Amino acid sequence: MHVSSMGVSKLCFLFSLALCALLLLLIPALQPSQHQGDLPQPRAHTKPARAGTGAGKPSQHPGGLVVPLQADVGKVTVTVGRNAIDGGSMGQGTTRETKRTGDGDWVYTAGRGDTQGTGKHTDSQTGPKEDFLHRAGGVAGAGGSRSRTPLELKDIFIAVKTTKKYHKSRLDLLFQTWVSKAKEQTFIFTDGEDKELRRRAGANVVNTNCSAAHTRQALCCKMSVEYDKFIESQRKWFCHMDDDNYVIVPSLLKLLSSYHHTQDVYLGRPSLDHPIEAAERVKSDGSVSVKFWFATGGAGFCISRGLALKMSPWASLGNFISTAEKIRLPDDCTIGYIIEALLEVMLTHTHLFHSHLENLQRLPTDTVLEQVTLSYGGFENRRNVVSIGGAFSLVEDPSRFKTVHCLLYPETDWCPSKGHH
Ligand code: UDP
Ligand code: MN
Repeated sequence: MHVSSMGVSKLCFLFSLALCALLLLLIPALQPSQHQGDLPQPRAHTKPARAGTGAGKPSQHPGGLVVPLQADVGKVTVTVGRNAIDGGSMGQGTTRETKRTGDGDWVYTAGRGDTQGTGKHTDSQTGPKEDFLHRAGGVAGAGGSRSRTPLELKDIFIAVKTTKKYHKSRLDLLFQTWVSKAKEQTFIFTDGEDKELRRRAGANVVNTNCSAAHTRQALCCKMSVEYDKFIESQRKWFCHMDDDNYVIVPSLLKLLSSYHHTQDVYLGRPSLDHPIEAAERVKSDGSVSVKFWFATGGAGFCISRGLALKMSPWASLGNFISTAEKIRLPDDCTIGYIIEALLEVMLTHTHLFHSHLENLQRLPTDTVLEQVTLSYGGFENRRNVVSIGGAFSLVEDPSRFKTVHCLLYPETDWCPSKGHH
């Protein structure tokens, strides 16, 4: 009796032990799957792992980029031949860096034979071949569910980079056109006091006190101030523009509405069809290289607040300048470096942003008004502007910005009324 009751309690003990173990095993399985699919689409994706940079990235151009890593010599040579996307021309940083011979810490050699037309064009609006634009980062503007509270214009911070010598020739046109539709959200980052500009835009003009030179340091200085002002502004989206960009404000709002500002979103247009490669001097000693995509600043780009906050250790309060100095790349490349290489968030490639490094004539006329940004270039010899007809001739409106503006907003007082044409 006694022995058998001992056996029973022992059995009971073992059984309850087994039950506990079973329950423990079941706990994770019983929990509801967390927030699956509750985020809006499309969204930026985080890179899986760093092993083998560029792994799984399509369309890496064979033998495209040559970056001799001369960490000690302090010279990085980036040779880009015809593989620049935008017609054999290079990212805007390139042009700048080639211009600058001062301390010569890096040289960017681009195949500059033909700036338009004959380079390897991979603009997505011209055909399906550009599947690198459709990689994991997602394709911008692909629709997706809307966020609960609709995005408003006031949620966007648009930074326009300029310099004193362009206040008249470039900024006036912007104020006359698209800036008039986004007055409160557009901030002008310049390098010299200008009473007339101040009267026109008041507190929306930021005198960065950065040098007016076209050097990496000066341009990074402006980007650094843009970043800090955006963080201070509490707005949901940061969009950087050059002073030769036209922003189609409703398109921008529509595009950003398909994402959520708390997600990690970096939207823009690459100027190369492959990631750029640089010596890693932030996380390591420069003996290893890192590959990353960047959005060309000349086409404009946008960053969600969520992502911008994560950039802070490398971007805020002067850190941006030191990051750029470490990797010795221009402002837009540095943004790409911080986001893709350091934070491991991928650039979402969009074909809705445009710089004058691409052949703008190739943009189909019937799609011009649906783009998010436009640009213009090369009035002197080879004109590079969007092909659109309307109220103004090429002589009256060489950039085509007035023409675009009147097609978008025909009620504008200086636009010829529809009845007259
Ligand atoms: N820029 C500047 N400082 C300069 C020259 C240019 O801040 O000394 C700005 C200019 O206002 C523009 C951007 O840099 O917003 C690009 O300049 P630009 O269009 O002249 O050159 P790109 O690189 O496009 O050929
Ligand atoms: Mn430009």
